[in-house]
Amino acid sequence: MPIAHTNPATGELVRRFDAMDDAALAARLDAAQQAAADWAERTLAERCSLLIRVAALLRERRDDLARLVTIEMGKLIGEAEGEIDKCAWVCEHYAEHAAAYLADEAIASDATRSLIACRPLGPVLAVMPWNFPFWQVFRCAAPALAAGNPVLLKHASNVPGCALAVEGLLRDAGAPDGVFATLLIEADRVEAVIAHPAVRAVSLTGSDAAGRKVAAAAGAHLKKTVLELGGSDAFVVLDDADLDRAADMAVTSRFMNAGQSCIAAKRFIVLDAVEADFMERLRAGIEALRPGDPAHRETTLAPMARADLRDDLHAQVQVSMDAGAVLAMGGQPLDRPGFFYAPTLLEHVSPGMPAYDDELFGPVAAVIDAADEEEALRIANDSRFGLGGSVWTRDAARGEAFARRMQCGCAFVNGMVKSDPRLPFGGIGDLGYGRELSRLGIREFVNQQTLWVA
Ligand code: NAP
Repeated sequence: MPIAHTNPATGELVRRFDAMDDAALAARLDAAQQAAADWAERTLAERCSLLIRVAALLRERRDDLARLVTIEMGKLIGEAEGEIDKCAWVCEHYAEHAAAYLADEAIASDATRSLIACRPLGPVLAVMPWNFPFWQVFRCAAPALAAGNPVLLKHASNVPGCALAVEGLLRDAGAPDGVFATLLIEADRVEAVIAHPAVRAVSLTGSDAAGRKVAAAAGAHLKKTVLELGGSDAFVVLDDADLDRAADMAVTSRFMNAGQSCIAAKRFIVLDAVEADFMERLRAGIEALRPGDPAHRETTLAPMARADLRDDLHAQVQVSMDAGAVLAMGGQPLDRPGFFYAPTLLEHVSPGMPAYDDELFGPVAAVIDAADEEEALRIANDSRFGLGGSVWTRDAARGEAFARRMQCGCAFVNGMVKSDPRLPFGGIGDLGYGRELSRLGIREFVNQQTLWVA
């Protein structure tokens, strides 16, 4: 894929970027390798003060950065502003809590003193997607930097402006040379970067296809990986749910970011007893969406990020309909410039359809009928992806019992699945492995050293 900025709202190519040549790439890898020892030896307080300065700059530059996100990948301006705020939050969160998260853990043994001590691992390669072009990067980089690891960013090819803006933030906040660098390279050069001795670990957020390739390359070089891949979260509406709230959250969760979120609700599993009432509310919510220029605040449905992603989504919708799914709304690209797809509702979705089996990464809600709670649980768990899931019921204990049986990494009761710096984020199955955020996230890329003193 060429490294280029195309405005998703107009389809217009704004700027092409040259990929780094081999010499420039090697210089950045060498700089990371050289910076690693010094960054590891800095005190935790020094490393965290960098994060505080980055957070301050994010807030200062919020409006410009949000505008950049909107014109580069098409997100609604209000959502882009929220994304920048959340990046500042994750930096501040790790600045405040890294000491506790990385603290020595004493363990009684035959030693006078024995413990787990967290030591830095070295440069982490972050291969990141475009859908939250700042958040995905900071979710990985803030804990890695606090833990003492330099970060090398290979961002998605359609958000080079964001990739360079992140590098600018770190530089202006005073990150020492080599502690953070953007690598403007195409995907086919990632394997060589993984092989380079400077790189000690790899974090990838993206599709399962990319995850498999990157994990295989990292495995060949015995480098640790964390993989956050696709999701097809279930949104289960039980017969005692608050249907107004559930339908509101269903629309928000499915259609924010034009449906391009790994933790968007994608499969709506609704008990027969409330299906008619829930569907009436869901249809009304979807009908009220207003596609348009994402820079305008009255717009409530953004374009998709790229033409090929919209075309792939449309093919999935058509194949699902050919297999018997009923189209209740939308079902086609919008007839206007840019990469807009009509807000779409597919009903009576069943196994064998892409809308049931695969991830629909766009503004399409798939509704699956379930006779009772046990069937709803079986369907919720009938997915190769295991990222998140939510259940909606007025009975919190019933909801928690259901959530505990959901086969996914993040199970929510009466709330849409979301990420939060305080809570672990990740999943199981074809979603990948490892956790980001919280104490678990910062401990993924450290040497958890056993220290034994006689
Ligand atoms: P993608 O095509 O896999 O791209 C993600 C990143 O991987 C990009 O930087 C891409 O570079 C790179 N890449 C692609 N193929 C590669 C390869 N063979 N070797 C090395 N790097 C490679 O994913 P996407 O379409 O941009 O993003 C959508 C997917 O990400 C969805 O499946 C979504 O669910 C998932 N996602 C998951 C999470 C999570 O937290 N679990 C969060 C957000 C998104 P190029 O752009 O240069 O191809």
